[in-house]
Amino acid sequence: MSSPTDFMSEFTRALEHPGELIDEISQSGKKAIGYFCTYTPVELIHATGAVPVRISGGPMRIDRADGLVPSFVCPYMRAGLERALSGDYENLFGLVQGYSCDVACGMFNVWKGNIPLSFYHILSLPYGDSSSAKLFFEQELKNLTERLADHGLEFSDTALSNSLDIYDDIRLTVLWLYDKRYKGELLLSAGDFYTVIRGVQVTPPERAEKLLSELVSSLKANTEKGSHTQDGTPILVSGSLVEDRSIFDLIERSGGRIVADDLCTGFRYFDPPSGDGKKAVHRLIERSIAHFPCPSRQLAKTRAPLLLDLARRSGARGVVFLIQKFCTPHLTDIPIVGRSLREEGVPYLVIEIEETGVMEGQAATRLQGFFEMIGD
Ligand code: SF4
Repeated sequence: MSSPTDFMSEFTRALEHPGELIDEISQSGKKAIGYFCTYTPVELIHATGAVPVRISGGPMRIDRADGLVPSFVCPYMRAGLERALSGDYENLFGLVQGYSCDVACGMFNVWKGNIPLSFYHILSLPYGDSSSAKLFFEQELKNLTERLADHGLEFSDTALSNSLDIYDDIRLTVLWLYDKRYKGELLLSAGDFYTVIRGVQVTPPERAEKLLSELVSSLKANTEKGSHTQDGTPILVSGSLVEDRSIFDLIERSGGRIVADDLCTGFRYFDPPSGDGKKAVHRLIERSIAHFPCPSRQLAKTRAPLLLDLARRSGARGVVFLIQKFCTPHLTDIPIVGRSLREEGVPYLVIEIEETGVMEGQAATRLQGFFEMIGD
């Protein structure tokens, strides 16, 4: 049987060379459709026969993108644009974006004006959970299916139901991995864990589902071989997109143990695993509305108790905010969320991520000091 680390190479390749994966999808006769944000209805896109692939950025030097957007745009968005301008996404069929933060939606238009894809679509999302909000969202989804159908991508309720089953299964499996992390029983380093769950977001779902199932079997078999406990001060990591695994490795090397997160590339992508509804589209809508909220979609005073609850359930002794430089939604959240954490006796630390990653030396010193302060 394969060891857990055998699964890393496929996910790592998908993350580091997104263009190769898109080329393979396109050569197989399928259309790859990119998206930035966890609020994009990937199941609906998949139900038309297309393959949804999350756009990757990653730590890199940015040249061409800086000619089109100001440097205060978050590193993830600039790096994704840099990849597109360098040709990584030339075989992408289209781009779909669910309206989240202003930067993501502004970037959608920069792509539209500069990257010649066959299909561009942005859909509005409801802010509440009233019946009229759900009706509005259903109409937005219908508009998307009609536009996809105009491009030869036909949709059916049965296909959507099948796609939801696949994605629900993926999310349940990843949340099982999270549960093992809470308990300190996961035989994966933090860097490997986040490579797996980010890899899932850029791999065709049928393949991701299979790889995850093999990973779980392998983890169970290896766990049975001997008891395993993980060291380090338990912490929760909060923030937006973290694409650089080295920060997770650094946290562990500095004495921390990540037991939970609310990252856009982490827990927020997978929770909740499914939604209820008689019709397939209602399952999709209910799940989307119950989504663990991004600060661009929910008030800080609503997010704060959710974060506190996550910290308590996971046994985290503190919170490390990992924030993309100049990410306004997350940065403006911190004073309010941070005050709530302090009032409940949960200390926190803020680390900013630049386009080339984090400044290791400086971050290591701050992390070590933080873990010493909140540790035993
Ligand atoms: S929420 Fe922040 S990190 Fe995410 S796309 Fe918007 S500005 Fe970038």
